[in-house]
Amino acid sequence: MNKVEINKLFEIISIEYGNFNVDADKYKYWADFLEPYSFEDVKTRFYELRNQREYTIMPPSASVITRGLTKVNNKIKFDEITFTCQFCHRFFNTYDDMVEHEERCRSVRYIERQYKRFNLNNGNVDKANLYNMPQDEFDSKYRLLLKKVQELTNDAKEKQVIENIFNPPKMSDARKMLYGKEN
Ligand SMILES: [Zn+2]
Repeated sequence: MNKVEINKLFEIISIEYGNFNVDADKYKYWADFLEPYSFEDVKTRFYELRNQREYTIMPPSASVITRGLTKVNNKIKFDEITFTCQFCHRFFNTYDDMVEHEERCRSVRYIERQYKRFNLNNGNVDKANLYNMPQDEFDSKYRLLLKKVQELTNDAKEKQVIENIFNPPKMSDARKMLYGKEN
């Protein structure tokens, strides 16, 4: 809650409880309690408590009102979040956003593994930069990295897989790879 909201809450409490007064000390005491929480949560809780018999005459205290509420910084709005990246578990509001991110995330993680594996740039990757760069720039960086892996790996099969990405085999050759012998 910000100061405007805290004042608004005091106004509400004063309307409900004619005997509620706030001086500077009390304001600070309440503000410390209320600040981490959302105005809506606090207001809802206040009205719930207002209806309870024990708060007929005196308002509930700040610590009672905020008890059990979730602090805003820790609060995840689950009703707005439906999709998460399977790799880094970031939240997304739409499926399309998630898919777009996930493809990049998968590729960044691949790049990161190869940098470690071949000790490129001492294994250090500027991940934030990779996540943020435009798609075409990212694609050309990715192709360069694949070339590098193809060059450095001792695994013949991996070399071939990468070769097939750059130079897809002709259909007849593809069949040979699939079936062993052409038939
Ligand atoms: Zn991710």
